[in-house]
Amino acid sequence: MLSHRGVAASGAFALLSIWYNLQVVGHIYKTVVIGAGISGLACAFRLRQLGIQAVLLEASGRAGGMVSTVRRNGFVFEAGPQCPRFPAAVWNLVRELNLEREFVAGDPKAKRYILRDGRLHLAPFSPGGLLATRLVGPQSKYRLLSEALRNSHPPSEEESLAEFVERKFGAEVLDYLADPFISTVFFGDAHKMGMESAFPALVEWERSRGSVVRGALSAYKSKRDAGKSSHLPSQRDSNAKHRGLYVTDALPSLGSFRGGMATLAEKLAEKLGEDVHFGAQVESIVATRAGNSASEAAWQIRASGGQEFSAEAVVLAVPAYAAASLLQQNAPHLSRLLAAIEYAPMGIVSSAYDRKQVRHALNGFGFMVPRREGLHTVCTFWNSSLFPAHAPQGTVLMTSFVRGAGGGLMSAPYDVFAETVEAENAKVLEISGAPIERTLWRYPRALPQYNVGHAHRVSEIREALNELPGLGLAGNYLMGRSIGDCAESGFQAAEKLRGHMRN
Ligand SMILES: Cc1cc2nc3c(=O)[nH]c(=O)nc-3n(C[C@H](O)[C@H](O)[C@H](O)COP(=O)(O)OP(=O)(O)OC[C@H]3O[C@@H](n4cnc5c(N)ncnc54)[C@H](O)[C@@H]3O)c2cc1C
Repeated sequence: MLSHRGVAASGAFALLSIWYNLQVVGHIYKTVVIGAGISGLACAFRLRQLGIQAVLLEASGRAGGMVSTVRRNGFVFEAGPQCPRFPAAVWNLVRELNLEREFVAGDPKAKRYILRDGRLHLAPFSPGGLLATRLVGPQSKYRLLSEALRNSHPPSEEESLAEFVERKFGAEVLDYLADPFISTVFFGDAHKMGMESAFPALVEWERSRGSVVRGALSAYKSKRDAGKSSHLPSQRDSNAKHRGLYVTDALPSLGSFRGGMATLAEKLAEKLGEDVHFGAQVESIVATRAGNSASEAAWQIRASGGQEFSAEAVVLAVPAYAAASLLQQNAPHLSRLLAAIEYAPMGIVSSAYDRKQVRHALNGFGFMVPRREGLHTVCTFWNSSLFPAHAPQGTVLMTSFVRGAGGGLMSAPYDVFAETVEAENAKVLEISGAPIERTLWRYPRALPQYNVGHAHRVSEIREALNELPGLGLAGNYLMGRSIGDCAESGFQAAEKLRGHMRN
């Protein structure tokens, strides 16, 4: 038992310690989230909904990270997602933020084209389309259409996407059907992408059913049957329906906002208000203790300009390489795992023309370019066909993703970079003259690559994270690169910290 003098001394020590914290590091936050991309915004928003105070630190002067929109002279230029899918996680956010009226649906059936020998061909999405296409020859068609009638099994070691497609369908299918999609969606290299890491469902279907098509059909049937048996709406569902918040599978799957994709990030940041600190590049984080108590911070965070923050828990919602560098001192094993994740470079050129300058009808989503065609362009989206309000009347807007791997154009002067890509578009779409507006971006590290071994690395990352209860990770290298996966990773990090706070 403590004497009166002991009690007084320990009380004085506690007061001193609180005074020290307030003087040196100011307020002790429950949580600091680092990075205001979609992952960090979703995490901070969910923490607030859970009643956990969170401050969000962002290096740049705006929210959204890779989701970025430039609005100029009536044009809406997108640096990131052009017409993404809105899965339930994102759609729920849209509703919670009252953004439904700002949403503009994209046509999921809009035609996609693939370039072969300089000509655009419709991308085949049905057996009929496959029979009709000139993108691949009869032997490739036969191998694709007869897959359900054959038996095969994946090898025991993870294979690359290229190995998988060549084994099952041949090189032509890899070059003219698989590669253009992989390059457009993942900025990936089929020879490096891992099947278990990027497409675990396909591996499972082949393993369990001996055929990807049979596996897919059986998964579809099970999902449909499960949907039928849970058809009666629960109390919560019917309340939600009453309020116009009924979430079903029939959500608008593709789309954007009147003011472009940044609308979502801007609204999230607006809701978080003064809890978002822009221009706060975090330079170091230091774990001061392992446990959890209200009066003592577990993490000291130092941001640019000497700003200091103390928090009981911290979430790193930054790219894997940035998280790796922040964790080098405190969690070297986790840091090494994060540092090993490869990122692909990517350039974006968004150009606007007077309608009369472009001969092509631009009737669809846009076109994809197989690597074999030897162009710098990976794909070109026809933004003004998808969202007419994103360009003034009488004009058209298109956005190209540009191959970054191999250097070359990525380090060329800006004019050369843009004009090279515009010349490639001009040839395919019969465009005359220079654009009337243009915006471009170059990302040396655009997206994480789900290469062979990535799934295993992510499970090691999760194991290492379990040893650090007051630390959360969120981002596009964990569950998937889509905005829906990023939002989910932010929500999961928030839930993990709620569990930690309760202990
Ligand atoms: C060109 C392109 C097209 C895409 N198309 C689609 C699509 O069609 N559909 C789809 O669903 N997804 C698409 N994506 C993917 C999706 O946009 C990204 O995966 C997602 O936006 C990543 O969000 P994030 O929050 O995890 O990371 P980021 O957006 O990278 O955000 C990380 C944030 O952390 C900040 N930061 C970094 N270091 C620090 C530090 N030390 N201190 C403070 N802040 C820091 C950064 O400034 C940034 O704001 C596309 C991406 C790109 C680039």
